[in-house]
Amino acid sequence: MDLQLKGKLALVSGSTAGIGYAIARTLAQEGASVIVNGRTQAAVDEAVASIRAETQGTVLGFAADLSTAEAADEVVRRHPGINILVNNLGIFEAKPFEEIPDEDWLRFFDVNVLSGVRLARLVLPEMKRANWGRIIFISSESAVQIPTEMIHYGMTKTAQLAVSRGLAESVAGTGITVNSVLPGPTKSRGVGDFVDGLAKASDKSFEQVEAEFFDHVRPTSLIKRFGTPQEVASLVAYVVSPLASATTGAALRVDGGVVKSAF
Ligand code: NAD
Repeated sequence: MDLQLKGKLALVSGSTAGIGYAIARTLAQEGASVIVNGRTQAAVDEAVASIRAETQGTVLGFAADLSTAEAADEVVRRHPGINILVNNLGIFEAKPFEEIPDEDWLRFFDVNVLSGVRLARLVLPEMKRANWGRIIFISSESAVQIPTEMIHYGMTKTAQLAVSRGLAESVAGTGITVNSVLPGPTKSRGVGDFVDGLAKASDKSFEQVEAEFFDHVRPTSLIKRFGTPQEVASLVAYVVSPLASATTGAALRVDGGVVKSAF
C-alpha cells in the first residue's frame, strides 16, 4: 500500500528514541520529510544519521526542549510548512498521590499536554490555508485506566484526549484531521530500561519480569507482552496518511487489548 506521504513535512516531537523514533523512521521510510527532535544535539545527530542510513527521505534535525514556548516558536519558524504534527514527547514517573507536589502536577501538564497544544496552535494556520493537515497526540491506555501509581501522568493522558477531540471538532469540514493514539505498555527505551532495572534488582530475566507484569499488573492484556514502538508507528503512519481522511476525532488504541472494552 502506498501511504502517499511523499511531499509531506512531518514533525515528531521527542523522536530520538522509543516510540517517537520508530514513528520518525517509518514516516521517512514512507517518503515523508521528517524533522527529528530531541533535547541534545548529539542525540538528534545520531538519530538523524541512523534514519538516513535506512531511508531515502529527507531527514532534518531540531535539538531543543519542545516543552518550552521558545523552542515551539523556533521549530515552526525554521521549518515552515509542517503538515503532519505528531505530539509524542512525554514523561512518566511513579509516585504515590500524597507525595506529588503542585510543581510536579504543573510540570507534567506543561510537558505532556501544553507542549502539544502549543505546537498544534502554531501549525494550524498553515494547515487551514492548505486545507490539509494531520495532528496526532500520542496519549496512552493510561488515559482510560488511570494508573494509581502515577495519577498525574494519567491526568495528562486523559487531557490529551479532550484536546484532540475538541480540536478535531473545531476543524470540522476541512481536510485536517486530529486524532489521539493510545499505546499500551510498549517496550520503548524508557520502559525497556525500567524493566531491565527491575530484572537486575530482583535477579530475574527480562522475560520473567515481563510475564509477571502481565500476570499481575496488566492482566487484561490480550497479547501478554509489551508492544513494540514499531507497532505504534505503523498505526500512526496510516492515520497521518491521506488514505485516513475519514478517521478524525478518534481515540485509536494500539494497546494489545489491555483496555477492557470492545470499542
Ligand atoms: P522514551 O522515554 O523511550 O522516549 C521519549 C523521547 O522523547 C526520548 O528521545 C526523550 O529524550 C525525548 N524527550 C523527552 N522529553 C522531551 C522534551 N521535553 N523535548 C524533546 N524531547 C524530549 O518514551 P516512550 O516510552 O517512547 O514514550 C513516548 C510517548 O508515548 C509518551 O508520550 C508516552 O507517554 C507515550 N506512551 C508510552 C508508553 C510506553 O509503554 N512506552 C505507553 C503509552 C504511551
